[in-house]
Amino acid sequence: MTIFSKIAAGEIPSYKCAESDKFYAFLDINPVGKAHTLVIPRREVDYIFDMEDDELAEFQVFAKKVARAIRTAFPCRKVAQIVLGLEVDHAHIHLVPINSEADVDFHKHVKVSDDEQKEIAAKILTAFQSL
Ligand code: AMP
Repeated sequence: MTIFSKIAAGEIPSYKCAESDKFYAFLDINPVGKAHTLVIPRREVDYIFDMEDDELAEFQVFAKKVARAIRTAFPCRKVAQIVLGLEVDHAHIHLVPINSEADVDFHKHVKVSDDEQKEIAAKILTAFQSL
């Protein structure tokens, strides 16, 4: 089981932002900015482009909803979508609120307290559930 499967199953704690029967979204623990969110399929697959067309399409639509919830909860110009996958071998989309290109620098990280992470995740979850 990957670390992200354990997170989606609730075996490892996470700051939950959204979920469905097939997908799960939670805050990155080492964010490049506030409200940096990861979206994953519950099904284990390492490389996003190995996903079947239907699953990938559904995954992208779920990520779109999460991005809308992020923007509602955390006003920003746009939400950037990034796929890397070099650290964790379980497909995931990074969603990062941005106002400028500098807001999506993976060499810089921000410190966000546990309380604030909880607050941000709760806001995103509320916005997601109201979509
Ligand atoms: P990458 O695989 O290069 O796309 O990066 C994996 C991302 O997962 C990084 O931004 C990590 O900070 C994040 N990450 C790793 N473990 C956890 C965790 N337990 N909870 C939340 N985010 C995590």
